[in-house]
Amino acid sequence: MNEADRQRIIVVEDDEAMRAMMEMALTKAGYEAELHADGKAAVSAVALAAPALVVLDVGLPGMDGLDVLTEIRETSDVPVIIVTGRSGEADRIIGLDLGADDYMVKPIYPRELVARVRTVLRRGSPSRPEPIVFEGLTVDPGSREVTVGGEPVELTAKEFDLLAFLASAPRQVFTRAQLLRNVWDSSDEWQASATVTEHVRRVRRKIESDPDNPRWLLTVRGVGYRFQP
Ligand code: CA
Repeated sequence: MNEADRQRIIVVEDDEAMRAMMEMALTKAGYEAELHADGKAAVSAVALAAPALVVLDVGLPGMDGLDVLTEIRETSDVPVIIVTGRSGEADRIIGLDLGADDYMVKPIYPRELVARVRTVLRRGSPSRPEPIVFEGLTVDPGSREVTVGGEPVELTAKEFDLLAFLASAPRQVFTRAQLLRNVWDSSDEWQASATVTEHVRRVRRKIESDPDNPRWLLTVRGVGYRFQP
C-alpha cells in the first residue's frame, strides 16, 4: 500500500509500552500511527493532521482524556475511541456523552484494538454536506433549510431538491429532461416536463423578491434553467 493511501490514526497514550504496542498493531494492520503522550499536543495534532481516527487514553498527565475529547469536539467530527483503565470509568464516560464513538477497557490486546478501529472507521463519522452559501441565499442540504436574506423559507421536498441541485452547479444550464432525471429520478417519457416548469415557478415565488424577473433561477430560453450565483 502506498504511504499516502494509509489512513492516519492518532494515538494519545502516556504509557510508553502501551503506546508501542498500539503503534505496532496499527502499523501491522496497514494504518499510519501518530503517537502522542500528552493531551495538549494531541489536540493540536488533530487540528493539523486531520486523522481518520483518534485512540485516546483517559488517564493522561495534565490535561486528561475527557478534556482532550471535549476540545477535539469543538472543531472536529473525527471518530474517537476512548481507552480507560476501569470499566466503572467507561460507564461514567458513556453517561457524560462527550461524543466518543467507542470505548475500550484496559487491558487492550492488539487484535481487539485493530478490530475496533476497523469497525468505527467503517461506520464513519456522520459527515454533513456543507451548506451552499450565496449573498442573501443559503441552501443547506444537511438540514434541508433555505434562507433568503437570513429568513427561513418553507419549500416542499421536491422544491428543495430542485433548488439544491441547481445551486450546487451555479451557472450550468440544465434542460427539463436533465432535471427530471436528476431531481425526480424520472424521464420525460414518464413525467411531463411541465412538472419542472411548475416547480421552478413555485420555487421562484418563494425565494425571489420579483418572481417575474428572477434574480437566482433564470430561464435559458429554448434550453432550460440555470442558477445565477
Ligand atoms: Ca494512561
